[in-house]
Amino acid sequence: MLYSSIIAQEGIKERLRRQIVTGRVPHAQLFSGPEGCGKLPMALAFAEALLCQSPVDGNPCGECHSCKMMKNFEHPDLHFLFPNKKSADETLSTSHLRTWREELKQSPYLDTKRWYAAMGTENQQPIINVKDAAYLSDALSLTAQQGGFRVVIIWHAELINEQAANKILKVLEEPPAKTVMMLLTDAPERLLSTITSRTQAIEFPALTTTEIQQALVTHHGMAEEMALSISRNANGSYIQAVNLIQINEDTSIFFDLFVQLMRKCYMRDIKEMQKWSELVAEWGREKQKNFLRYCQHMVRENFIFNFQQPELNYMANNEREFSTRFSPFINERNVIGIMEELSLAERDITQNVNSKMVFFDFALKMIVLLIK
Ligand SMILES: [Zn+2]
Repeated sequence: MLYSSIIAQEGIKERLRRQIVTGRVPHAQLFSGPEGCGKLPMALAFAEALLCQSPVDGNPCGECHSCKMMKNFEHPDLHFLFPNKKSADETLSTSHLRTWREELKQSPYLDTKRWYAAMGTENQQPIINVKDAAYLSDALSLTAQQGGFRVVIIWHAELINEQAANKILKVLEEPPAKTVMMLLTDAPERLLSTITSRTQAIEFPALTTTEIQQALVTHHGMAEEMALSISRNANGSYIQAVNLIQINEDTSIFFDLFVQLMRKCYMRDIKEMQKWSELVAEWGREKQKNFLRYCQHMVRENFIFNFQQPELNYMANNEREFSTRFSPFINERNVIGIMEELSLAERDITQNVNSKMVFFDFALKMIVLLIK
């Protein structure tokens, strides 16, 4: 991870480079700031610079053996702690390391929700538990494998539980030689003061609209105007901006598939309808449910469209254009029936009914309902 791939935060990059150039690296630093401002990418780049065999002006060289290992976040002297399942057997973070590295490779701007989903802990509050903290103090009791620094990154340090905090405090109080710890948090006020008082604080500001816009243009090849509109809704978070792109892309796919289905139902093209349901059945259940909600939105908006009161209509331009032709098909005789079928389909998807059947069944019912 090179500093150049991190969005903005130039002041902080310079500060961290200077630490390496002057050789004055604090043994523990607290990176705090809102989600999506780049704390984790910054910690990874700083780790790479610390572990690099021949850093240039405080930058990692990107070429040496250490830097090459860091491309996969797999350096033996780099240790991670991150929120983990709370379950009774308290699995160690180490057993999730493979998933962790995969997620970082996808994007070091790691979305906490995405991480919880990857670990299967969406319905509970994960924590950094005492076994993970014990693993860390064990790892640090050995000498560095490559003979240089040892680096520890604790992601979401506010989720360190009390027992784990005691172990981590011991490390902070008597830091092993050449060990650098970075504690990352969106909520510094939730950390124990005994921990924060032993760290040097670096506060990350949220990204500006322009910074996010430029990143979307550079990294996603997005048009300036679109990038601006997304960055304005991203609350200074690159993670939110990327999630918004996903939602935008999904909405455009949903629109196309809704239009396709309505055409196929109108033409009574059963074969094509079956192909359509096979396509939608390939998605994950969550996306299927989002699609059914999107269909409800389209049905509702088209029904309202008939009353010619634009202030009550919430549609994008392409949707509105389609409605000029489609809205007469949604009327007081069928609107409730269609909405009910969509809720039933959503319930079936939630209950894991075969989704190919659910969508094909819905399509067949639409043939009958559309001609009412
Ligand atoms: Zn290097």
